[in-house]
Amino acid sequence: MDKVYLVKLLKDKELQVTPQRLAIFERLVDRKDHPSAEMIYTELTREFPSLTLVTVYNTLQKLEASGLCCKVNPLHSSARYDGNLDAHIHLICSRCEQVLDLHDVPFSVELPDSLADAFEVRSHRVNLFGLCKTCHAEAATVSGDRKSRKAPSA
Ligand SMILES: [Zn+2]
Ligand SMILES: [Zn+2]
Repeated sequence: MDKVYLVKLLKDKELQVTPQRLAIFERLVDRKDHPSAEMIYTELTREFPSLTLVTVYNTLQKLEASGLCCKVNPLHSSARYDGNLDAHIHLICSRCEQVLDLHDVPFSVELPDSLADAFEVRSHRVNLFGLCKTCHAEAATVSGDRKSRKAPSA
């Protein structure tokens, strides 16, 4: 994404624009794999040898607090971040914990009448849990092996 535009987004949120902060933001926005702070840190240390993991954590937290990225998903032991703020659904593999984006699928929730006056929905986050293609194939192989191993004794 255009650097000038990212600088504008940071300034609009009254966040100080430092080269490190801009690089972290840029890393996050230009990818789809929902990186952790550690992943971004590892990728940027060559370019910014003085960068610390704490700075990456703090920056991501500031970006999130300002609504410039979101934190994804309850499954991971370390938080993963998403620079894509368009409404989308997350498909989360329960085995390898990768997060895939699903766009352009309309999703809506209708509150029951009893809640319609009590609450107004403004946004939502949807996480669908399951197995990715690779894990699905591996899980099938593993259970297949077990069956074949059991077979002789049966
Ligand atoms: Zn998987
Ligand atoms: Zn996403």
